[in-house]
Amino acid sequence: MLVIKDLHKSYDTGKSKLHVLKGINLNIDEGEFVSIMGSSGSGKSTLLNIIGILDEKDSGIYELDGIPIEHLTEVKAAEYRSQFLGFVFQSFNLIGYKTALENVALPLYYQNVPRKERTQRAMEYLEKVGLAQWADHLPNELSGGQKQRVAIARALITNPKVILADEPTGALDSKTTHDIMKLLQDINNEGKTIIVVTHEPDVAAQTKRNVHLKDGLIEIDEYIEQVVLK
Ligand code: ATP
Ligand code: MG
Repeated sequence: MLVIKDLHKSYDTGKSKLHVLKGINLNIDEGEFVSIMGSSGSGKSTLLNIIGILDEKDSGIYELDGIPIEHLTEVKAAEYRSQFLGFVFQSFNLIGYKTALENVALPLYYQNVPRKERTQRAMEYLEKVGLAQWADHLPNELSGGQKQRVAIARALITNPKVILADEPTGALDSKTTHDIMKLLQDINNEGKTIIVVTHEPDVAAQTKRNVHLKDGLIEIDEYIEQVVLK
């Protein structure tokens, strides 16, 4: 599903070069639930952004569903993102003047799905995350956990191969974190591949595989006994 070999990434910071990823090797199969951990600045978001085709590697191999991700135009990158990937962020990234339903439906608009079908499917996904009765509410009328549910519904609506989540529970309290992780476990148990960046050991324990970044390399990569939430 996802093949990464000897991947490097540096940032040019004016005077010096910051070598963030120094040879990452990582294979992720369909249906996996992987957490990426590591101290602040260790390159977690950088790696996730490269996986999400939001940023480009300097060298090495990255293949997504058998497709080499290499020298893409912005149009092609956007097409692959829309076809393969769903994104969830710490800060939800919902559009403030659109309702929950409209936010969830938005990715289908970019895929030219007709309005009626967009609305129907968005409603299905809002139901899936337990928010059907909040469909007409604006983001600022929702709690943090509800906003993240909307974001998860929006990430799922195109039926992507992989969900990428960067600190999805970073802005949530522990009860809400539990609920969001339970939702992600349910989604993973239905077969969806999920990669989540987190600095919370509890959250990492609720996935099925822990990857630790240190000094630009993968220090630990292990399958774990998942803490299953109820
Ligand atoms: P955190 O836990 O704080 O989110 P992280 O592990 O996600 O950290 P990254 O955001 O991947 O870390 O950043 C890794 C390093 O690369 C940091 O030192 C950061 O300052 C630097 N960096 C990230 N993005 C850029 C950029 N666009 N330009 C220059 N430097 C960058
Ligand atoms: Mg980060």
